[in-house]
Amino acid sequence: MVLKMKENYDVAIVGAGTAGTYLAWLLGKQNHSVLLIDKDAKEKVGNRLDIIHFETDRVQKAGIPPFKPGDPDCIEIRDHSKVVTPDLSTEITTQAFQTIVRLSPFLQKMYKELEKEGVLLKFKSTFKELIFENDKIVGIKAEIDGKLTDIRARLVVDASGTSGIIRTGLPKDYGVETFKLGPNDVMYVLLQYIRWKNPEKPHPTKDTSHIYYLLWFGPSHTEDSAILGIGQPGSYENARLAREDFLNKVDLPPYEIYKEEKGFTPYRRPPYSLVSDGFLCIGDAAAITYPFSGHGVTATWMLDMIAAEVINDALNTEGYIN
Ligand SMILES: Cc1cc2nc3c(=O)[nH]c(=O)nc-3n(C[C@H](O)[C@H](O)[C@H](O)COP(=O)(O)OP(=O)(O)OC[C@H]3O[C@@H](n4cnc5c(N)ncnc54)[C@H](O)[C@@H]3O)c2cc1C
Repeated sequence: MVLKMKENYDVAIVGAGTAGTYLAWLLGKQNHSVLLIDKDAKEKVGNRLDIIHFETDRVQKAGIPPFKPGDPDCIEIRDHSKVVTPDLSTEITTQAFQTIVRLSPFLQKMYKELEKEGVLLKFKSTFKELIFENDKIVGIKAEIDGKLTDIRARLVVDASGTSGIIRTGLPKDYGVETFKLGPNDVMYVLLQYIRWKNPEKPHPTKDTSHIYYLLWFGPSHTEDSAILGIGQPGSYENARLAREDFLNKVDLPPYEIYKEEKGFTPYRRPPYSLVSDGFLCIGDAAAITYPFSGHGVTATWMLDMIAAEVINDALNTEGYIN
């Protein structure tokens, strides 16, 4: 089905990461007309992280097509992990249901699901500014297919990630806080994809957390590899120093680093309100992450499910922002 661009939508969502994509899917299934735009090319969205972990129970609640280990977007589904005490003396096995996902193939799979639900996706399309009428948001101006275009929407959703490009530019009295994320509002995360040189020798099992150091050995591509991750507030340098401190204390067997990634994830309270007239913010744009793990994906999905119900009621109410 080839969908054509219209001038009016029920919902315009800015940002086709995990937050915007999931909400678009829910609203598309409810037969609302939805436009989802992203400034990046389709194949580039989600490339900033390779492997990402989702909480399996929340994936199931979210109702998305199930993950199958061996598919391009799913490495494995795990049921336990280990936590090490601060003095490094004791390992405790905990029940932890995690789905180990490859982010980019997952998003590409979801884009196909969105198209089936009639959602219009526009990539290389950038939000520019809000359109107001009588002091209320009634749409967005965006550069779409290289052209500055006015799009009217009954609801505009900011799912633009840590920049919160729409939320942070709202009028101060619009009802949603406009703070930007500063260095002490985020966790700077360094990831090293490592391969044990002698995998037969004892080494930290994958999915072992040193919570005291905010450091973990996460599952990676293969059995003989792991992701050595660390997060610290303030700066990447803080994270690097904390990792150095940890590595000076433990005696790890030799390994090689075959890939590195870094990024930051919100680590502060979300705005007191995520909604205002014709506006909603979700995902990193709304600083929604689980407090201990810093995981953001399913944290937002659980809120998206509630939001989709409320949006459905509002859009089916005569007179709601037309
Ligand atoms: C190193 C690291 C590891 C992590 N690991 C995990 C994990 O294992 N599990 C987990 O749940 N979470 C993890 N997180 C957090 C998780 O990645 C985020 O919470 C989640 O990806 C946020 O999704 P989002 O859709 O809100 O934002 P994003 O994925 O950032 O998507 C926002 C999109 O908006 C687009 N955009 C921005 N501005 C504009 C504009 N002006 N116009 C149009 N489009 C625009 C961007 O191109 C982008 O594609 C990790 C974070 C980091 C940094």
